[in-house]
Amino acid sequence: MTKRLWIETVGCQMNVLDSELVVAALRRQGWELARTTAEADAVFYNTCSVRQHAEDKVYSALGRIRLEKQRRPGLIVGVLGCMAQKDQELIRTRAPWVDLVVGPGQLHRVPSLVDDVLAGGGPRLEVSLLRTGGSREAIARSFESYDPDRDPQMRPTPFQAFVRTQTGCDKFCAFCVVPHVRGPEQARAPETIVVEARKLVAEGCREITLIGQTVNSYKWKDGGRTTRLSGLLEMLDAIDGLDRIKFVTNYPRDMTDDLIAAVRDLPKVCHYLHVPAQHGSDDVLTRMKRGYSIGEYMEMLGRLRQALPHAAVTSDFIVGFCGETDAEFQTTLDLVRTGGFKNSFLFKYSPRPGTKAFDRQIDDVPEAVKKERLQVLNEAQTEASLSGNLPFIGTRQQVLVEGVSVRDERRQSKSAEPLADRAQSVEPSANASCDHNQGSMAGADDASAASPEKIVQLTGRTMCDRIVVFDAPLRLVGRLVDIDIQAAGAWTLAGDVADGLAEAVPLEHLMADGEAKTRPDPVLHDIKLYDIALHGAAGLGRAQAPMTPGA
Ligand code: SAH
Repeated sequence: MTKRLWIETVGCQMNVLDSELVVAALRRQGWELARTTAEADAVFYNTCSVRQHAEDKVYSALGRIRLEKQRRPGLIVGVLGCMAQKDQELIRTRAPWVDLVVGPGQLHRVPSLVDDVLAGGGPRLEVSLLRTGGSREAIARSFESYDPDRDPQMRPTPFQAFVRTQTGCDKFCAFCVVPHVRGPEQARAPETIVVEARKLVAEGCREITLIGQTVNSYKWKDGGRTTRLSGLLEMLDAIDGLDRIKFVTNYPRDMTDDLIAAVRDLPKVCHYLHVPAQHGSDDVLTRMKRGYSIGEYMEMLGRLRQALPHAAVTSDFIVGFCGETDAEFQTTLDLVRTGGFKNSFLFKYSPRPGTKAFDRQIDDVPEAVKKERLQVLNEAQTEASLSGNLPFIGTRQQVLVEGVSVRDERRQSKSAEPLADRAQSVEPSANASCDHNQGSMAGADDASAASPEKIVQLTGRTMCDRIVVFDAPLRLVGRLVDIDIQAAGAWTLAGDVADGLAEAVPLEHLMADGEAKTRPDPVLHDIKLYDIALHGAAGLGRAQAPMTPGA
């Protein structure tokens, strides 16, 4: 009989990709996705360790699944990913009903480990070496890049895909657990990445997002030749049938001129750059061991803006890092007010065992102060995001249609609710990104069963990653369409499908349109915040929870 798997994913894009690949591998062994945990033969949590909150959520979920395991002792409970690598045996100490603990460097073993457990072999723990556990080579070998064949049905949308450029991280920022749980930075060969991208395009994929912990540090040496991200982008840009290329996350110091020129000159590369600053103060950046001053960050931003005046730049910021004074916080606030970020992901500092800040600095900013600073920063970014979006009113933008909007998805699941006023329909994504990819993979959803001509509220993204909602037939999902923007909120633009196939207004014309900036069109802000996850609602991976900023 077919076995059924339920998998919940917390954390970053890396985890979303890992879950896709684990599911694909198990499907090749005859597994299918379960619709509920009650009908699952295995329940997996693909976990994140970046903040305590993400771990707490998984431990609570493990507490809940315990009852199911008591009812059905044959149920396999698995903890995969970063928390598995970080907590190791501790997971079974806290939750002895867990059968599988598998770190991110050992995911290729999941299918055989599942078979072992099914055969009565008892619980299994498979993790990689600690960063202090041997030579660099030995540690690197213990973190195997996991890149098996893809399964288009397992992606949130068939026309968008994540492609890994490298695993691990060597930056060792004082606050960050990632280098400890994802191991040393290891690049994949450019040829392998291009082959994977070509395969994806042949399967109907139109947009590829390259992912690496610091993606722009990408470097591959082959004999005398070195390929950097700019060279890789050039290779990918040449793939026929591919429309868009994005890449996340960038490290400020590696935002080199060749990369900026590649973004400017390669037509498929999106003008969207996520380059986290983390803080506005030199002293704090030093304590964070970020490796640059705010002057250097601003210099980088200046080069970027000069070459790409209309690119969307986004950032991450941490509030309440060890010793952060009011005056230091003020520098972050000033940066958010003046930096022109399209949006920022904002976090309260969460001390992580194993990191330098945890060992050598004191988490001395009271929780209430962190909370208040987060709120103040959130308000400043919301204001900045809104003023960045207003000039788009009255322009025409090309969007890649990602799926049914969260509003319509919810409405479909609740059935016949009256059509809300369109102003109410804009469901912006919040500033904070904690667990922004949280979601479970479940069976096919209702939208995919609906008529392709049915008019629903769709959501898509512009080349500069702005979310646009509009009413249109379902069949447009996966296509590039032009939208006339009629309204703007801080996180979302709303508009109508343009007549015919007119070209999108080039970004260069945006700011020149003084009239557009001052038009008294509806401004949609005071609306409840919901996350619109990276990938829309079509197909799988749909459960997107309302977000708690800075949780
Ligand atoms: N480099 C990776 C993941 C880093 S985690 C990537 O983005 O692809 C994402 C963000 O979480 C970081 O940029 C930082 O702003 C925040 N973060 C990391 N460690 C944190 C901690 N200990 N407490 C609070 N926020 C943290």
